[in-house]
Amino acid sequence: MHIDWREGSLDPVDWESMKHMGNKMLDDMFNYLEHIEQEKIWKPINQKVLQELATPVPVEPMGLEQCYAEFCTTILKYHSPMNIHPGFWGWVMGCGNPVGVLAGIVTASLNANVIGGTQLACKIEEQVLAWFKELFGFPREASGVLTSGCSDANLLALAVARNSFANEIIKTKGLQHLKEKLVFYASSERHHSIDKAIALLGLGSEQLRLIPVDNQFRLRTDMLEQTIAVDRANGLHPLCIIGNVGSVNTGAIDQLERMAEIAKREGLWFHIDGAFGAFACLSEKHKSLVDGIRLADSLAFDLHKWMYMPYGIGCVLIKNREAHYRTFAAEADYIQHRDAWFSDYGISLSRRYSAIEIWMCLKAYGLKRLAALIERNMQQAEYLATLIQNQPDLELLAPVALNIVCFRYNPGRYDDETVNTLNKRIVMSLQFEGKVFPSDTSIGDKYAIRVAVTNYRSKEELFDLLVSRVLSLGDKLSH
Ligand SMILES: *Cc1c(COP(=O)(O)O)cnc(C)c1O
Repeated sequence: MHIDWREGSLDPVDWESMKHMGNKMLDDMFNYLEHIEQEKIWKPINQKVLQELATPVPVEPMGLEQCYAEFCTTILKYHSPMNIHPGFWGWVMGCGNPVGVLAGIVTASLNANVIGGTQLACKIEEQVLAWFKELFGFPREASGVLTSGCSDANLLALAVARNSFANEIIKTKGLQHLKEKLVFYASSERHHSIDKAIALLGLGSEQLRLIPVDNQFRLRTDMLEQTIAVDRANGLHPLCIIGNVGSVNTGAIDQLERMAEIAKREGLWFHIDGAFGAFACLSEKHKSLVDGIRLADSLAFDLHKWMYMPYGIGCVLIKNREAHYRTFAAEADYIQHRDAWFSDYGISLSRRYSAIEIWMCLKAYGLKRLAALIERNMQQAEYLATLIQNQPDLELLAPVALNIVCFRYNPGRYDDETVNTLNKRIVMSLQFEGKVFPSDTSIGDKYAIRVAVTNYRSKEELFDLLVSRVLSLGDKLSH
């Protein structure tokens, strides 16, 4: 079947042919997901394909059928499934879900621009934000906005924290006009999106104090207090404490109550980066660890990681709605409005209708099912840790707080540098094999194989496979 385009339009002459094509594409994509386990997780980029892709700008129409055929033969075939494969545990990536696929079609079809105002799309975003406020113990009056991810959410929250000091001066005269030097505090384990935000906000990375962590990789609150005191004594102005709920390296959760107490006593803003870990609140067993989220002034988290929703959806919640609004609100003749719009709570003016994707995924699956999957991912991390501890040649490098396991192959007869190199080669070999896929990190000066389980497709036997592959690769590569 061939699709003809209407004269002077991007719509088809015959919508039936479009529906036919749409059904075929959807069938193909669901087939792909249905059999995803048989794919190699990672495939090297084929140089021939790169050459084929490097064409001049397509001026003449190729038509959808041919374009889609080309997608199947030159792109999909060589595409690495990575995070949607059951054996993928690299970095912290979500695996998406099939309802999200369909919700994506709805989002793209309605193509609503959720700037603000009275359209229903805005009410849907308000509703999903209300659900998140409820989950995290934020008051109903708190403000919030969906973002493209947690990096953006952190940036927005830290901008509000910064401007809460002197909004008018910062907005009009600029930061350089302030006599005070504003100082922010986070642990040495913070995500680098915090560093980016501090730099972008013009605060200067030297004003981000990196507080050391304890043996559970939690910010040392005694050191935090000391550092604040020293900064005050030196005439600086402490402004904001940033806590980890699920640190990127090890999944550590900072001592939120204690940090909130310090923030309150010192009059500081308390921000939490809960990118994936915030959703540990859905776990019966772990929720007490993250209960302190409700004490934060602001919270950033992702839906596309541990809520298994499509990329890119993050969220920021801020208790002080007024401070949030004042930071971002700007007037323009061409968008006059009296009530606050979503665009007054962030950088973006035009905004994607991600809210409907959240709405659909949450309603279709229900929180209970998602909570059970999160719980299971944590059990799988514990299971892996147990397997590791039962192997004399494997060494656990950090306690397992949530869903992240850091370990290495270490038969005990090599120096640290040799062990580091050996483990690096193990990780590269595993990734190349494409059956199970950890990433890596450094724990102190130890190179670590790092497994972050935010994947509901993962099964226990894949962790058995990981352990047996690490052992045999370790043995093979050290000879
Ligand atoms: C992933 C992550 C971020 C950044 O989130 P993006 O959605 O990738 O922008 C921030 N903090 C932590 C702890 C993360 O794991």
